[in-house]
Amino acid sequence: MKLFLSGRISGTTWRESIVEGYLQDAAHSSDWPVLINAIFGKHSYVGPYWVRENDVSGKQHGLTNDVLESYNHRLDPSVCFQAIDRADAVFAWIDSLECHGTIVELTYAWQKKKPVWAAFDTAAIREEMWFVNLGTICDDKTRGEDGPTNLSPEEAPAFFLRWFIEEHVTEYLRTCPYAEYLQSPEWAEKRHQTLLFWDNRCSICGSINGLDVHHRTYERRAEEYANDLVVLCRSCHTIFHSNSKLVKE
Ligand SMILES: [Zn+2]
Ligand SMILES: [Zn+2]
Repeated sequence: MKLFLSGRISGTTWRESIVEGYLQDAAHSSDWPVLINAIFGKHSYVGPYWVRENDVSGKQHGLTNDVLESYNHRLDPSVCFQAIDRADAVFAWIDSLECHGTIVELTYAWQKKKPVWAAFDTAAIREEMWFVNLGTICDDKTRGEDGPTNLSPEEAPAFFLRWFIEEHVTEYLRTCPYAEYLQSPEWAEKRHQTLLFWDNRCSICGSINGLDVHHRTYERRAEEYANDLVVLCRSCHTIFHSNSKLVKE
């Protein structure tokens, strides 16, 4: 899944603790990089990125008011919107009411029909942000109310992000393009288990070369029963598909 992590970008370092290899100064390019599998080793990061304070070329994001002054208000949010367009979901950690950019980003994502998830540091902030927290716009959690008691503000963003991903990843894998599903770590694990189960051999002819894991049915994509998957060598696979003896793909 490709994720956009919204929320105030100045001050705290919660993004850096979640995104492996988070690039501090990638924002000086107007084309933000996608960090593949940088989130929990499985999910990709599309933005946002901080900007180097001494860099006025390109598009800026995450500027505090005093820095903005020196940039002469050249903030361009379109680079955020492009990153949200690339995202499969947007997660926001909201620990302050001073997060105007976040509200705009969440609204944009919602308008674009992206899943929007938000976690609030306190119930008071959630209450105050009722306009964002309508249920229709986002799926939300609050530290202290959801999750373990004693969850610190430092741990909370990663904790809630995992929570949302866990709740939504199966649904995502079920509906994403099939080719993308085949690229997912979840499928890699399932494929591995299926090969082990069949002793790394074609279930028809026993060959050990050019093995594919074939879906007998797509009914339970991302939640397949062991029975839904079978190991076939390339030539048996081809024969099966041309004779359509198995469920059509
Ligand atoms: Zn075979
Ligand atoms: Zn097949």
